[in-house]
Amino acid sequence: MHWPTPRSAYIHVPFCRHRCGYCNFSVVADRDDLMDRYLAAIDQELDRLAGIANRPPVLDTLFVGGGTPTHLPIARLQRFLQSLRRRFDLADGFEWTMEANPEDITAEKLDVMSGFGVNRVSLGIQSFDDRKLAVLERSHSGQSAAEVIQQVAAQIPNVSIDLIFAAPGETVSAWAEDLRIAASLPITHVSTYSLTYEKGTSFWTRRHRGDLSEVDESTEIAMYDLGREVFAAAGLRHYEISNFAKSGFRCRHNLAYWQGDPWYAAGPGAAAFVDGQRVMNHRSTTTYLKRIESGGNPIAESETIVAEEAAREGAAFGVRMIDGVDLSQIRARTGIDISSLCAASLDHLRSQGLINRTADHIQLTPRGVHFADAVARELLS
Ligand code: SF4
Repeated sequence: MHWPTPRSAYIHVPFCRHRCGYCNFSVVADRDDLMDRYLAAIDQELDRLAGIANRPPVLDTLFVGGGTPTHLPIARLQRFLQSLRRRFDLADGFEWTMEANPEDITAEKLDVMSGFGVNRVSLGIQSFDDRKLAVLERSHSGQSAAEVIQQVAAQIPNVSIDLIFAAPGETVSAWAEDLRIAASLPITHVSTYSLTYEKGTSFWTRRHRGDLSEVDESTEIAMYDLGREVFAAAGLRHYEISNFAKSGFRCRHNLAYWQGDPWYAAGPGAAAFVDGQRVMNHRSTTTYLKRIESGGNPIAESETIVAEEAAREGAAFGVRMIDGVDLSQIRARTGIDISSLCAASLDHLRSQGLINRTADHIQLTPRGVHFADAVARELLS
């Protein structure tokens, strides 16, 4: 199978002020003392990456995520962005996203970001309700979140926000207020996630102890459907299970992942997909740093993706797109015919009323939209 040269890159910045109780990302909280070592290490990793490509890779999309990239103080932020600009060429019409938290945003940081070419900001808002923000252990207020969205949009007018629903104790009417405020603000894109309790997080432990209780499934479904309704009315089209966008503002970086395109990656816990190899760096920031500082390799895991796996993943991610997935594109890319490979699964999913299917196209039904994870799992198995 021929793998195209990546046109996307993901860079992971692990620093946060505090680890939120539900978070299981590769994060170091309250370890700003590691920032200079991180900046030196990421520079080396990017150097190596440019060396492999034999020239600065040309990118259509660059995504800087975390952690909280904007937690870097201004001088370090400049050094970091310089390092990225030196290592990558950005193609005409590029999309450069940077994740940010409201409490870090200043006019000076926004100037630096836009000066280097960042043209999309993804804000970790989660809610506008102070009580819910406290439960989620977020350090901003609802009022400051709304103000920051306005401030960012005035300087970098492509703002995405993340919102969490089904937090402990949350009601549908409280969520409706979050949605109302979000829809009234100058955003181009929203991602909504129901709160999950991941093993290894303090929320997981607290739920087991009975300190936190999950919202029941029917309330969670009502919240999800309300999000679809409110954002549709605000001109934010539902295009992927968890994502809504104004026309022309879908996240091109995530679309590349979902379409099975390859990408480069760097930083602790970052996963890359290059030449049919999926590799993941050490999740521990200190292990990542030690590996690079000793001239070693930061990779913790790697696997070869064969054509059948690539085709199954293409179907599983593709079916999460609200418009559905074109199987002929997967066949052209991988040489695998999903209609034959997954014939029994497709029949089963259709008989359950979860997908509609024509010869070369599958799409979730309105009922299937609520069971997208189960549909994806069946296509992968
Ligand atoms: S700010 Fe985001 S990345 Fe950092 S700990 Fe909280 S949820 Fe995780």
